[in-house]
This record gives sequence, structure tokens and C-alpha cells, in this order.
Amino acid sequence: AEYHAWYEANAAGSKATFEEAQRYIPGGVQHNLALNDPWALDIVKAEGAHLWDVDGNRYIDFLQAGGPTVLGSNYAPVREEITQLIADCGPVTGMLHAYEVKLAKLIHDFMPNVQKFRMLGSGTEGVMAAVRAARAYTGKSHVIKVGGAYHGWSDQVVFGLRIPGTGSLEAAGIPAGALQLTQEVAPGDLDELRAKLAANAGNGGTAAVFVEPIGPESGAHLVRHGFNAQVRELCDEFGALLVFDEVVTGFRLGMGGAQGYFGVKPDLTVFGKCVAGGYPAAGGIGGSDEVMNVFAGGLTAAGKRALVGGTLSANPMSCAAGYHTLLEMDRTNAPAIAGRAGDRLRAGLSALIARYDLPYVVYNVGSVVHLHTSGVLHLSIHDPEFFTELGPRKDMLGQMSMAFSAEGVVTLAGSRLYTSMADTDEVIDDALARFDRVFAR
Ligand code: PLP
Repeated sequence: AEYHAWYEANAAGSKATFEEAQRYIPGGVQHNLALNDPWALDIVKAEGAHLWDVDGNRYIDFLQAGGPTVLGSNYAPVREEITQLIADCGPVTGMLHAYEVKLAKLIHDFMPNVQKFRMLGSGTEGVMAAVRAARAYTGKSHVIKVGGAYHGWSDQVVFGLRIPGTGSLEAAGIPAGALQLTQEVAPGDLDELRAKLAANAGNGGTAAVFVEPIGPESGAHLVRHGFNAQVRELCDEFGALLVFDEVVTGFRLGMGGAQGYFGVKPDLTVFGKCVAGGYPAAGGIGGSDEVMNVFAGGLTAAGKRALVGGTLSANPMSCAAGYHTLLEMDRTNAPAIAGRAGDRLRAGLSALIARYDLPYVVYNVGSVVHLHTSGVLHLSIHDPEFFTELGPRKDMLGQMSMAFSAEGVVTLAGSRLYTSMADTDEVIDDALARFDRVFAR
């Protein structure tokens, strides 16, 4: 209630925007990330580590737009290149532009596994293309994902497979048929993965195994360190393609992505977020010449081309944004600097949790920091209590998120915090003082 009073006293402009938004936009926000209790914040300025709302409040930004802006928000050297490109030829022509080639070549330089790259409109589209490419290339039918993993919102791989038909959580409108060829294994459960691969072998086969390489939901559900390498071995044994969803990890974990970080070679890599540096539209798929040629035609079992499309896919603006962002990230060593900020934030939060004896746990993989109410991690997604436990814990984190924002720190739903190159020691220490005020209450 004290924090709601803060919003009433200090965020009237956002309230007005949100009230009007509710009349014209379902739920009042176009993006779930903007959801906030009691209302969404209307942001008018973003720069480096900070956001400003319409009421003049400044926030430290650990949402980072959901992950793409490792250089910090609104990074001027990239913005200047984009401004020039738009002055020259506008955002899109539908024709070939040299930036498409430059971006694909640069990605190949950083990730040698990615011999060919196809730009798309979003991470969701990249995953859809990966499902299709894997089936076209292998001629097999099933896809396996890890429980709790987020691979975008397409029907075949949306969140937990328990959702359709259970009436639980948020996914309506997905017919059971859409999931007939999609299977899920519990995080870290290699025995279950082997059993599913073996069962599928006489029954259409497994086209692909999808993983988020730092664990489902960007590491919210942890898997052991050797997990990816063992999944690679199982894929080889059963002739399935290994797909790394690097929408979050691609370039945030390092210029070599999670595949460089773990030293595991996927057959296909899905890109999003950083691949256009926070500019729209950001998605893509890459892999070996052989697999990626399914998009060029000729090599599939059926001799047909696998289709991908998109009016705005590979527009020069996105490709220029990705190209200059990746160049700058490499030049400035942004992933490592953002990662050190993540270490400092995690260490500080950990000390606060200990000081106030809070039932939370905090950990990070570089610039991806997770804050959880402890306990969720002890449950497998296959435990019946998982979803009953998850609901109240998510609500609690939602309340924390609201309180953090009122103290001037924006997070991803109170449970994930992305750091960026703009997060100097001063910024992190300022944030920790604000977390301290919330935790003290
Ligand atoms: N895969 C992962 C691991 C993600 O985190 C996301 C988005 O957060 C996606 C896929 C979907 O990407 P997009 O939101 O660009 O469709």
C-alpha cells in the first residue's frame, strides 16, 4: 500500500496514459514486459543505464528491453549509423542491401558454426524456422524441448506443454493437435531425453532437440554445467539436430554466444534481441551450409524448399543495427563489462538477502541475473505442485517488481535483471541502496 501511494503521488502522467491505453489496447499494454502494478510506466527517454518516465522519474534499467541492449540503451554510435542509413534509403526497400551480407559475415566470424545466416523478424520466427529446417533436413517429425523453456509464442513450442487443456496459466487457443509432435523433458533430465529419443526412433524420429543453453527461461530453471554437451552426444546418437536458442545468450554471454561459452557445437542457432541491437526487427537462424541450404531449395528429402518469409525480414535498418551493435560490442568488450556488472549486482543482492534473512536466492551467468523466492528451484516441472507453487511466488515477485520500480529500479518481473555495459560500479551501488530500502521494509 505504501508503494501504491508512491505511484499515486508521483506517477500521474503514466496513470493517464495507461487509463487511455486500456480503452484501445487489450490489457493496456502492447508488451507483457510493461505490465506493472498498479499501472504501466510511460517511458519518454532512455539512455545508457537509465530510463525516464513522463512524470520525470528516473529509473535504473535492469529490464534492458528484455535483453537486446548490452551496450546500454540508445547507444549513440549505433544510433548515428542507423540515422544515416534511414536518411539514405529509409528503413526498408525489399531489395538486397550490403548490410545483410555484412551482418551474416560478422556473425560467422564470431560463431564459426554459423556458416549461413537468415535474418528474420523475431526470435519466435527464428524458432519456427528452426523447427521447419530440422524437419526438412532430417525428414523426421518430433521435436523435443526442455520443460519451462521459453522459445517464443508459436503454437508448437509455447512454454509448458501442460498448459493447453489444463486451464492453467496463460495459454489459451492452442489446440492439442498443434502439440502432437512436440515433447518436453524435465530440466536436466538426460534419462528422460534418452527415453523419448529412443521411443521416437521407431515412430517418425526426432528432428530436433531445442535447448536454452543456460537453462530454461534464461537460466531460471537451472541445468548442470555439462548438460549441453551431453545433449549433443544424445542428438548424435539418435540423428536429431541440436538447436541452441541463443535469443538471449547470443552475444550477451560473449561474442561467441553460449556455443563459445560452453564449447558445444549446435546444428542450428536461433537468434533474436542482440542481433539487431534493440532495433526492430530482431530474429534469425543460422547453421551449417548443409542444413541451411534447405532454405535455398534442392537438398531436402522431398527435394523441396523450406519456406521462410516476412515483409520486414532482413530490412537494411535491422541488419545495420545488428552489424554496428555487434562491432561495437566486440570493440568495447561489452559482454565482459556487462558480466562484471552482473557479478557485482549478484554479490550485493546476495549480501542484502543474508543481512535481512530473506527467503530469496540470487545467482547470475554474466549479465543475466536471477532473483527468486527460494523453493521453486527444488521442484521439477513434472511435480504436480510446480504450478500451484509458482502462482503465489510469481505474485510475490510481481509485488517486489512494483516496489523496486517505486524505488527507481526497473527489473524483468522482479525476478530477472539484465546488466549492460552502461552499469558502472556507481550505478550498481546506487541500485543496491534502492534494493536495500525495499528489503528493509
Ligand atoms: N527464445 C528465448 C530464449 C527468448 O528469451 C525469447 C524472448 O524473450 C524468444 C525465444 C522469442 O523471441 P522474440 O520475443 O523476439 O519473438
